[in-house]
Order: sequence, then C-alpha cells, then structure tokens
Amino acid sequence: MSYPKIIINKDKFKKNVERLVEICEKSNISPGGVTKVFCGNEELAKIYVEGGMRFLADSRIQNIKRLYDIPVPKLMLRLPQISEVDEVVKYADISLNSEQETIESLSIAAIKQKKVHDIILMIDLGDLREGIFAEDKIYDLVKIILNLKGVRLIGFGTNLTCYGGVIPRKDNLNRLSTIKKKVEEEFNIQLEILSGGNSSSLHLIETGEMPEEINQLRLGEALVLGRETAFGHQISGTNNDCFKLAAEIIELKEKPSLPLGEIGMDAFGRKPTFIDKGNRKRAICAIGKQDIDIDDLIPEDNSISIIGESSDHLIIDITESNTIYKVGDEVLFNINYGGILKLMTSEYVSKEII
Ligand SMILES: *Cc1c(COP(=O)(O)O)cnc(C)c1O
Repeated sequence: MSYPKIIINKDKFKKNVERLVEICEKSNISPGGVTKVFCGNEELAKIYVEGGMRFLADSRIQNIKRLYDIPVPKLMLRLPQISEVDEVVKYADISLNSEQETIESLSIAAIKQKKVHDIILMIDLGDLREGIFAEDKIYDLVKIILNLKGVRLIGFGTNLTCYGGVIPRKDNLNRLSTIKKKVEEEFNIQLEILSGGNSSSLHLIETGEMPEEINQLRLGEALVLGRETAFGHQISGTNNDCFKLAAEIIELKEKPSLPLGEIGMDAFGRKPTFIDKGNRKRAICAIGKQDIDIDDLIPEDNSISIIGESSDHLIIDITESNTIYKVGDEVLFNINYGGILKLMTSEYVSKEII
C-alpha cells in the first residue's frame, strides 16, 4: 500500500476492546464504541462489535451511514442539525439531544418514516459543551418530549472533559442520577439509560466511585489508545500502539541547522526561530500539515527528533539514530488521538489494517 499510511494492528485493537468490555461489564455498564476517530471505518467498527461493544456511536451522520449493515444500535453523538433529522432518524436508532426544536423535528421525521426515534437528553454538569444547564429547564423539556409521538425519551446523559476539562466525579455524576429519579417520580415513567460520559469516566470504575445508576459509557480514546482521559493513564492490559504512521523518506542530506539569508515569514506566515546545532543529518518525509500536526506525532525511534513541517513535507533530524536510513525507507511514528483523527480523515493517507 502506498505511503504515507496508517497501519492498524487488528489483534492489538481487539484486545483493547475486550479489556474495556471486561472492565465495564464488572460495573454493569453497557459500553458503546465511538467510531468518529476512524471516520466510521466499517472493518474497525466490526472489531468493536466482535470484541463486545453493545452499540456504535459517532458524531457525524456520514460515518453512521457507513455502519448501516452492522447489526447493533447506532447512537448519534453530536446534537443533530435540524437540516439532517431525516437521515438521523433513518440511520441512527438513538441520538443525544438538548434542544426542543431539534427534538420536535426528529419527531416529525420519525412519524414520516413510521418509526420511533430514541432520545437521550444531555445534561451539562459543568463542562460547558452540550447539554441543558439550568435544572428547571429539564423538567419543562421532558414534559414536551413525552407528548411527542415520534420520539421516546430513554434516559439522560452527560459529557465531560471535552471543553472545560471538568473531571467526572461521584458528585457531579450523582446529579445525573438525582435528575433521573426526580423525572421518573414526577412523570411516573421508567428510564433505561444513564449515559455517564466518555473515556474520562473510566477512572471512577477503577476507584469504585462510579455511581451505581450509571449504566452506559461511550468510549473512543480508551479503545483506540487504551487511555483513560481524566488523568491520561494507560489502562492495564491495553495497547497504546494499535495505530501507527509510516511515512517515506524522500530526501536525506546533511545540512546546517540555521537557514542562510535573511529570515522572513515561513509558509504559514510565522517568523521562525532556530538554534544552531551545527550540521545535522536531516530527512524529509512525504507527509505534511495537510495530514498531521507534528505535535500529534512521536517518532518510534526515540533518537529521532521532529524539526518542522510545511503543507506536504515533514523534516526530521536523524543524526542521533543508530539506524542507517536511506531514501525510500519508511519512518514509523506513534500517534495521539487527534493525530489518528487527522490521518484517518486525510484521503492522502492509506489505511492498512493488518
Ligand atoms: C467523542 C465523544 C465521546 C467519546 O469520547 P472519548 O474521549 O474518545 O472516549 C463520547 N461522547 C460524546 C458526546 C462524544 O462527542
């Protein structure tokens, strides 16, 4: 397969999935596999399901569409756009919501399609991304939803550590179960789901602090990189190198570390600065800012350092490496979550599942 390519190790990936299923099931939590980081790739989504994920979740309807043939429920993670409610009802079984207008539109779309679309109402516990913030507004909205024929309220959910960096704790998640109980009593209904967040909620399982009523988590990074994301710890028994980048060397030369001539702007309008380290062995890899940010890459050969990047060129310093590189060789990099997302999104990067 042509370079640059992202190489995905199926066995390692599946081990991560199985390990997380094991962790969640011990706490009676139904885990869902979040597919957005790999753009809803069907082969990888199937590994989620084979490994025991109970449902699939994505923030983009185009990705959810790709998962149509996989026989588990699909959850739309991002609040639906009113302009896409027909597709959301068609391809997703459940969506996360916080806006009355959208829920009403979903209901109309569902009635048209002779379906009932399931809704999880999002509560903002302080991270300040999506969700209802003012508690009294929750009850007003529940009342309205219960009168709509095309949608069914199945529970409440929250999302933390995404915008505000707020860490899920027993106290903030307990608010979610309190709200659920209040709604169940006030409206005399039963709600099945309490969706307690993403990979940043996993640490509560480990410390035994996960509120009992939380029965669903939506996991992305924990599956792909084996990381709980509240503190950034590696989860025991998982791999952090299921996804790797391989880029090809197109030039390899010894050059000084300081550019010659007067320094103006670089390709992105910034004035670069340099440290003189004398002559260095520099390699150019055929990948660039269009596909990846250098901050998202860690060279696997830890004696390599990344010097810089323009749209289509990645410059690395291989002076300290014990490996003898030559033009045409591949250089391997580990990648963080943001990097995997960018590489999987770039049509210039091949995807090789091994
Ligand atoms: C992306 C996302 C997730 C998954 O987050 P991870 O940190 O990758 O586990 C869960 N819920 C929502 C609403 C999301 O947007």
